[in-house]
Amino acid sequence: MVLGMTNRRVLISGAGVAGPALAFWLCRHGFTPTVVERAPEPRDGGYAVDFRGASLRVLDRMGLLAQVEAAATRMGEVTYVDGDDRPLAVTPASFQSGELEILRGDLTRILFDATKDDVEYVFGDAITGILDHRDGVTVTFERGEPREFDLVVGADGLHSAVRSLVFGDESWYRRDLGYYVSICTVPNHLGLDHAGRFHNEPNRTAGVYSARDNAEAKALFWFGADSLDYDHRDVGQQRRIVEEKFAGVGWETAELLSAMREAPDFYFDSASQIVLDTYSRGRVALVGDAAYCASPLSGMGTSLAIVGAYVLAGELAAGDHVSAFRAYESEMRGFVDACQKLAQGNGKWFVPPTRGWIRLRNLNYKLLPYLPWRKVIEELPLKAGNAITLKEYAGAPA
Ligand SMILES: Cc1cc2nc3c(=O)[nH]c(=O)nc-3n(C[C@H](O)[C@H](O)[C@H](O)COP(=O)(O)OP(=O)(O)OC[C@H]3O[C@@H](n4cnc5c(N)ncnc54)[C@H](O)[C@@H]3O)c2cc1C
Repeated sequence: MVLGMTNRRVLISGAGVAGPALAFWLCRHGFTPTVVERAPEPRDGGYAVDFRGASLRVLDRMGLLAQVEAAATRMGEVTYVDGDDRPLAVTPASFQSGELEILRGDLTRILFDATKDDVEYVFGDAITGILDHRDGVTVTFERGEPREFDLVVGADGLHSAVRSLVFGDESWYRRDLGYYVSICTVPNHLGLDHAGRFHNEPNRTAGVYSARDNAEAKALFWFGADSLDYDHRDVGQQRRIVEEKFAGVGWETAELLSAMREAPDFYFDSASQIVLDTYSRGRVALVGDAAYCASPLSGMGTSLAIVGAYVLAGELAAGDHVSAFRAYESEMRGFVDACQKLAQGNGKWFVPPTRGWIRLRNLNYKLLPYLPWRKVIEELPLKAGNAITLKEYAGAPA
């Protein structure tokens, strides 16, 4: 292993999934990572995320697979229902939940606990400036004093501040897929048992699925819309958008909207992809959603984040940052393309635009067990999840 002594101090922006996973591997390879996170503590709650293919092997190499399995959601079927809660179609667990599913907040906590003793975490702060002066990087912060690092990695999600500072305005790289999603934690008022119930009206999907062994539930609202102009930090405005879009939708929607108003957490964003022609500039690189967000419609974002962190750290341990960043990109590119492709054109199945589409989708799901191409459909996500051959890096357990 050639450890570039000058590249030891790595600042990572973002303590979501990719950030702590990268810090984990950098520590294993002998680097000294610092993670700065805007939130005051690791962010709890959130929606369910799935793992498929190569990401499970990375979790195994991290020694965390058993912990993630112990916290798995064990979700079962999702039933699509009409306005009177009558079942119209059912999809099996494998359809929504991948090979292994966990609440995003639980995953973040597991990754944080696995790294907190070895990694410097700075919560409640954010990067405001990055000056790459060839020998190193001077970073300024909203609250803390300026500091020197050898490398900076943006793991700060779809709306990455590092990407904006170094690569330019988000609008240059973000491709909106024409859908928005909102998720929050609500009471399990339907008494769902490891199951979900979704209701469609044209261009809108309202749903609820049980979580934490049925102790609570997640309400979810999807709708189709061209790019909306709203403030990413203004949760009140985002709640109003959801209320307006779902006003008058039948089934349990009014109940779910009223639970949303009281919810302890709230997520709202566009289903978007980030498409960059390079994942690094100088001494700054990007990982996870910041570099190659595939959108929730792909079900691959967490897998990409976990695998990307493993590859980036492994390549940095193998050589200087210039060749490492180049190798990271060439290892990841095909995998990213396969995962992003999964989401494209997928939205109509989840948020059908018309009543005709809703009927067609339900008919397809009903007939699915008998369709000759069922296996092909089921195996598509797994194929994308395995569209990378993991290298074995020195210092990483095989
Ligand atoms: C509704 C929904 C469902 C999903 N379902 C799945 C699924 O089934 N399977 C799957 O694989 N993926 C799924 N995803 C995607 C998955 O959540 C993301 O792809 C994954 O979390 C990416 O991890 P990340 O660490 O790159 O980004 P994030 O998890 O977004 O983490 C970014 C972190 O950076 C922090 N941050 C942001 N800005 C700053 C700043 N300026 N300074 C410091 N910190 C900052 C944030 O607070 C956050 O902690 C889903 C996403 C959504 C929204």
